[in-house]
Amino acid sequence: MRAPTPAQDENLSRIHTTVKEEIDHLMKCTLGATCPFGKCAQNRRALLHYLQCGARGCVVCDKVNTEKNKAIAKLRKAATAKEAAAS
Ligand SMILES: [Zn+2]
Ligand SMILES: [Zn+2]
Repeated sequence: MRAPTPAQDENLSRIHTTVKEEIDHLMKCTLGATCPFGKCAQNRRALLHYLQCGARGCVVCDKVNTEKNKAIAKLRKAATAKEAAAS
């Protein structure tokens, strides 16, 4: 048995950074199907659904991968706070 290596931690934080950037993009993106990020519109819909749904065992939410769910859960409050501040 080995303890988690720094490399694994780095990799994990890199995933989170990527997911955060992706979510940031999804929140701002208005290009929809023409976005160069291929699945942007699809991911945006899944994200918007996830932000509003929160139902356990939901098939749509289940499609969002676990790492993304974790990152979104963290960002969820921040996004809500941002919206509350903007309105
Ligand atoms: Zn986009
Ligand atoms: Zn759902």
